[in-house]
Amino acid sequence: MGPRWLYEFARLRRGAPPVEQERIAWEALTFANGGKGGEGTAWGVRADAAPPPWADVTRVETQLWGEILAPLRDKGTCDATWAGRLRLLQDGTVTAQTVTDQLPFREAFLCQAVAFLREQAERGIRLRFCRRCKNPFAAKRPDAKHCPGTSCRTLAWRQADPVRFRKIRKDAYRRKVSPPSRQAQSTRILDRPRAGDAPSPL
Ligand SMILES: [Zn+2]
Repeated sequence: MGPRWLYEFARLRRGAPPVEQERIAWEALTFANGGKGGEGTAWGVRADAAPPPWADVTRVETQLWGEILAPLRDKGTCDATWAGRLRLLQDGTVTAQTVTDQLPFREAFLCQAVAFLREQAERGIRLRFCRRCKNPFAAKRPDAKHCPGTSCRTLAWRQADPVRFRKIRKDAYRRKVSPPSRQAQSTRILDRPRAGDAPSPL
């Protein structure tokens, strides 16, 4: 679970295979409890905890979209509730800590989602919505328009400059078919035929 986990979760595949469902359910519970999860870190869930049922996981994704992501994308604003603890430090500073361990799973999850979105600016991450697929993604640049990775950014670029795209694809294909190193090697082998080789038809 990395800092971009919530963005991946927002693209939940309803028909994910059972093994994947269980993994996502555990991750969702970890997120709801404010834990970081992942390898080598504390899961932030009690030892006797059970992952939420898949129906709850899909329902919380629907709520995440309906109550937070879609309003932010379409109106630029959403109502949010927060649960946590304020602390008065000796120097007079008041700090806020999101605490969700007493809340039911879905409430806890949405509260942590609110906290996550509030805190992501401190990590230099912006929330953008892809112009093509409308999904949220974490962006470093304020002018990022398409979600990263394979599909959307590539498709957008391909449409914007089809000629250049085809040329680059063609060049990449040529490199793949005959990489320069292998070409040099095969030439060297051909230059020195072994004794048992069949005579060349040319
Ligand atoms: Zn996209």
